[in-house]
Amino acid sequence: MDQNLAGKIAIVTGGSRGIGQAIAVRLARSGALVSVGGLHDISATRALVEAAGVPTENLLFTHTDVTSQDDVEALVKATIGRFGKVDILVNNAGINRDGLLLRMKLDDWDAVLNTNLRGAFLCTQKVLSGMVRNRWGRIINISSVVGVAGNAGQANYAAAKAGIIGLTKTTAREVASRSITVNAVAPGFIDTDMTSGLSEKVRDRLRGQIPQARFGSPDDVADLVEFLASDRSAYITGQVINVDGGMFMT
Ligand code: NDP
Repeated sequence: MDQNLAGKIAIVTGGSRGIGQAIAVRLARSGALVSVGGLHDISATRALVEAAGVPTENLLFTHTDVTSQDDVEALVKATIGRFGKVDILVNNAGINRDGLLLRMKLDDWDAVLNTNLRGAFLCTQKVLSGMVRNRWGRIINISSVVGVAGNAGQANYAAAKAGIIGLTKTTAREVASRSITVNAVAPGFIDTDMTSGLSEKVRDRLRGQIPQARFGSPDDVADLVEFLASDRSAYITGQVINVDGGMFMT
């Protein structure tokens, strides 16, 4: 694998499983030193990194609830303490609490907005001054196609993911002159814990709406994140890029 991220320092939120795990492993295999902030232990991620022949010292884990300003501060402090700076931030941590709007509980609204949107804001704000000083940075926000298209039963999640798009475009404009790019990745349906609860009937219906007729894999998302984290994407900023097998074409 190319070492096109050699010497770069990356923070990935939520890297114990799913898309965040694939991203953390991919960035580490590309030569980055990777700091994961999440709720759960990352032993499975560590094992994958080791199996790929990357020293496990290149991976740092800090217990982090991204909704907590103190935890986010501690994550960034630990990363800088161990690796020296932050070049790349991947705001991946996210949850869903689905339900029709008429019946949606305020707690479920708040939890989803706080994790997906407030978390991305807190992490971005905390790393940005260092990137501005260093005149280089990559921020990659994991949104969703439902943030663009909406989805019945996901008012909270769609609002949070649409908010991420606004955050992405605004941050991109604010720091474009400092060689910092900010982009959103909008996955369609990806095989992870988040989608594992869908019934076979629902999965069949959804596959029928995807031109490639399959759910994506976490690696499909990691492929794009790796590119956006690299120097090769220098002239791409403020964009929302779908990884969805052609489900939504604009
Ligand atoms: P998973 O449910 O498999 O993983 C969610 C991740 O978010 C976990 O790593 C979890 O960390 C982390 N997380 C949740 N809450 C917090 C918190 N408060 N603080 C820190 N970390 C937290 O989901 P996916 O891998 O599928 O999702 C990853 C991202 O991709 C999310 O933003 C999701 O919305 C988005 N996405 C997913 C799609 C899909 O089809 N799967 C489609 C479109 C977007 P931990 O492991 O430590 O618990």
